[in-house]
Amino acid sequence: MNPASAVQQLRVFDEMGLGPLWLSKHPVLAETTETAEAPETAVSAGAEVEQPELAEVMKQSGQMTPADTAPVATAADELLIPESVPASTDDSIVEELMFLPVADVQPSDSSRVSRIQSMDWQTLQTEVASCQQCGLCQGRANTVFGVGDSAAPWLFVGEGPGYNENLQGEPFVGAAGQLLDNMLRALGIARGQRAYIANIVKCRPTDDNGRDRPPSAEEVAACLPYLQRQIALIQPRMIIALGKTAAVSLLGMSPETPVGQLRGRAHRLNGIPLVVTYHPAYLLRKPADKAKAWQDLCLALDHFSPE
Ligand code: SF4
Repeated sequence: MNPASAVQQLRVFDEMGLGPLWLSKHPVLAETTETAEAPETAVSAGAEVEQPELAEVMKQSGQMTPADTAPVATAADELLIPESVPASTDDSIVEELMFLPVADVQPSDSSRVSRIQSMDWQTLQTEVASCQQCGLCQGRANTVFGVGDSAAPWLFVGEGPGYNENLQGEPFVGAAGQLLDNMLRALGIARGQRAYIANIVKCRPTDDNGRDRPPSAEEVAACLPYLQRQIALIQPRMIIALGKTAAVSLLGMSPETPVGQLRGRAHRLNGIPLVVTYHPAYLLRKPADKAKAWQDLCLALDHFSPE
């Protein structure tokens, strides 16, 4: 490794709060870290995955559903807090805000879904830019389609646009975006280089006071066909779900699924490996958990197929 690369690598680890404790033994990372030592992942046996009600809604409406979400070993039961939850919000409120009951979901129109499934990239972008399928269109400044390499092997999926993303029309800007960029660099990729970044919903959800909030199940159901079409067109070889909302929405799991069943294992989404980690905004609030996020990235590397 040349000195400049070594300095950059150290900056990445420093930004992620990993320091000398979190240098990976993974063969891909070992090429660029030299002093690697990966920590042990503390896992425990998880319970069976709960009934995937959202998946059933998607199926009924003709949307893509997970092909394989068989449970394996799980990590400890930490809370994956979505980006839009204010820093001052306590965990009990977070749980209340996180989801509407799945029973409230109205399936998307199947003909609409079929039409989306046949779109090329440009048509899809145009469709999203003028979409009024759910109420989130009313307050948006911009739709946030996604950013990056449209043939990327790595796909990162967050929850939804926040204040700055809505203004700029790009996902993960600001401090959380910088941390995500550092996480990408730790994987040897970058925004626009072998990586694509998108969200579950493409318009900013806000509450009555104009604050960011997680998308409702209805909003997720309305918008998910766009992301599903993006996945079909990108054909990534690894999907990283950033936070619980992204994870359960993509996997069609119940919002009540214990977090212990999400992190610490490789899921499958129509054959594509999917690993769940913390949302960068959460990691900014809880930097001690950056080490766990690093575990998740190492797990993703283990399951990433180069070809
Ligand atoms: S969030 Fe998605 S479904 Fe709702 S208006 Fe925006 S683009 Fe359309």
